[in-house]
Amino acid sequence: MIHKLTKSSLALNALGRCLTNHISSLKIITRGIVSVEQGNDTDNNEVYDVIISGGGMVGSAMACSLGMDPKMADKRILVLEAGNKKVMEEIPDSYSTRISSISPGSATLLSSVGAWEHITGMRFKPYKRMQVWDACSDALITFDKENLQEEMAYIVENDVVVAALTKQLDTLSDNVQVKYRSKVVKYVWPMPHQADAVPWVKIKLASGDTLQTKLLIGADGPNSMVRKGLGIPTVKWNYDQSAVVAVLHLSEPTENNVAWQRFLPTGPVAMLPLSDTMSSLVWSTSHQLASELLELDEESFVDAVNSAFWSNENQSELIETAGSLFRGALSAIMPSAGSPRQLPPSVAGIGPKSRVMFPLGMGHASEYVRHRVALIGDAAHRVHPLAGQGVNLGFGDVTCLTRLLSQAAFNGRDLGAIHHLLEYETERQRHNLPMMSAIDLMKRLYSTSVAPVVLLRTFGLQATNMLPALKEQIMAFASK
Ligand SMILES: Cc1cc2nc3c(=O)[nH]c(=O)nc-3n(C[C@H](O)[C@H](O)[C@H](O)COP(=O)(O)OP(=O)(O)OC[C@H]3O[C@@H](n4cnc5c(N)ncnc54)[C@H](O)[C@@H]3O)c2cc1C
Repeated sequence: MIHKLTKSSLALNALGRCLTNHISSLKIITRGIVSVEQGNDTDNNEVYDVIISGGGMVGSAMACSLGMDPKMADKRILVLEAGNKKVMEEIPDSYSTRISSISPGSATLLSSVGAWEHITGMRFKPYKRMQVWDACSDALITFDKENLQEEMAYIVENDVVVAALTKQLDTLSDNVQVKYRSKVVKYVWPMPHQADAVPWVKIKLASGDTLQTKLLIGADGPNSMVRKGLGIPTVKWNYDQSAVVAVLHLSEPTENNVAWQRFLPTGPVAMLPLSDTMSSLVWSTSHQLASELLELDEESFVDAVNSAFWSNENQSELIETAGSLFRGALSAIMPSAGSPRQLPPSVAGIGPKSRVMFPLGMGHASEYVRHRVALIGDAAHRVHPLAGQGVNLGFGDVTCLTRLLSQAAFNGRDLGAIHHLLEYETERQRHNLPMMSAIDLMKRLYSTSVAPVVLLRTFGLQATNMLPALKEQIMAFASK
């Protein structure tokens, strides 16, 4: 069982090592050759320095970050977004179900592009502690900073993040243009070693317009047309789970500054603070249970949520006894007793029409770059939401790619050249792959109630909870 659990993570790790250790010159030779449709026409379309395909949270942040970089001031940047412009003149009364836990590192990026100010002016909720516990045992782990003096992360609605970035993009119209309702329907790729080939990436929109760019940044989400069009090999699988998300009304007002996550045998259930009286639910569970949860009347749904956080039906006496013996032995030798258990708030109701479900999966592009192309965000990597890392990995891509493109612009280099794009790929894969492996391992380790595995994770969680230095390292890695 344990062998089975670790197998896929080992495969991911091995893939990561193999990818990041490739000799870069070999990459440079192979990346120029693309085995998909090549361009050989030389239509005189508008040529941009950078086109970002996809104006979601990650693509919009990329556009702001490049647009605000003084070294990119003379570059023409365009964002193509299939959807409508998302503005928020006034913050709606009801909360959106789609939220993200934004790490301090991501908040720093959003702040550097001027969007964080808009977010704090709209709506966000910081949290100062995270409690994660196992439904099959008494084991728990808590994370906090400096005895609750500092914020661990921030819960922000995805629409608020995009609206804040959109507001900022409106101020950058000198060098950043955004075309909404502009769906890309075709890409034609350049051939670096073919004299008569089109030198730039050529893009065809659903409207029939065509554009060209020296660098295409694919920020078009998990089903990325850029990634698929280039035929980039992708490791991916669907999990046997869907996430049910909803807005929760708490029974009574509380400080509500803790993020709660409990691992049930069917998957993790998380309650994330939105305000003193509201929280957001992200409940990952079997597809069948997810569909059933969506069908329940409000009262039964609320009962199911409360039971998911409170019920002890999955605990066994054997695990209880072994866990408390282990905890007792640890506290005799460990300096820290770990943090005390807190009880989550109880739920009294849900927001109107707020229940939605999403199938969950994992995906990783083995290459993030090709000649004149870079992938960022979910277009390059997709993770299970249990660690709240998806968009944070994407914002990390934005920070890294901006730094390398800025240097290239300063040195007068071609922005689409593979040399510095490969630096981006190596740097980000070194960060993203270990994180993705850890998330996938957690998902598998906690998706079972088999006694030896429950015992193993109970001991692991209890020991980690008593090691402040290790917890700090975990927090530092997750907060980038
Ligand atoms: C239930 C759930 C909970 C989550 N919670 C968290 C969390 O707490 N913290 C966290 O960090 N992450 C979380 N995530 C992950 C996070 O939502 C994603 O990582 C993030 O939305 C990815 O952003 P993106 O901009 O890369 O892609 P997307 O949001 O998918 O945006 C892609 C954009 O590209 C546009 N597009 C696509 N194709 C085209 C085309 N052909 N032409 C033009 N435009 C196109 C789309 O319209 C879209 O706007 C969660 C995910 C789920 C499912």
